[in-house]
Amino acid sequence: MAVLKVAKLGNPILRKIAAPLTADECKDPKFQIFLDDMVETMEKLEGIGLAAPQVFQSKQAVVLRSTSNTRYPEAPDHPLMILINPVLSDHSEEMIEGWEGCLSVDNLRGKVCRHRKVKLTAFDREMKPLAFEAEGFPAVVLQHEIDHLLGKVFLDRMSDFSSLTHLAEFDEYWLSPHKVV
Ligand code: ZN
Repeated sequence: MAVLKVAKLGNPILRKIAAPLTADECKDPKFQIFLDDMVETMEKLEGIGLAAPQVFQSKQAVVLRSTSNTRYPEAPDHPLMILINPVLSDHSEEMIEGWEGCLSVDNLRGKVCRHRKVKLTAFDREMKPLAFEAEGFPAVVLQHEIDHLLGKVFLDRMSDFSSLTHLAEFDEYWLSPHKVV
């Protein structure tokens, strides 16, 4: 396995619509190794999700897993998911606002509104069809990652840039709601 290079904001690959994978493409042993490399890259860089275009493959694949780490100390635990060709099939009208960052957007956090609940269809890495619902934190991560497949980053989803903050300032002023400043 290998840690892959991450495309940064400004790289045109982050703005392309990713291509869906065929069963043959997904089952190719080289692509299966690539999926393992995506997981390793996400974990090494302490991301909670990663989309294939972020590691220079404009294909519809995302991985996510969350455990508390130094980038996201308050992240709840969520088991590893590898999703091929994920599509949001439905969502709640109700929105939730939360802080987002991105491995492709260094050193920034900003508040983004997302649907609180989403329904998805996708395939697993063996191309078995999946359909499921997610709510709260995993729903937000899924929306962020699927956006990468559509050429979008979280900055595009911010309605107000006044919350945009560098990481050191995020840690100092926004991480703990109880901190006296
Ligand atoms: Zn991202």
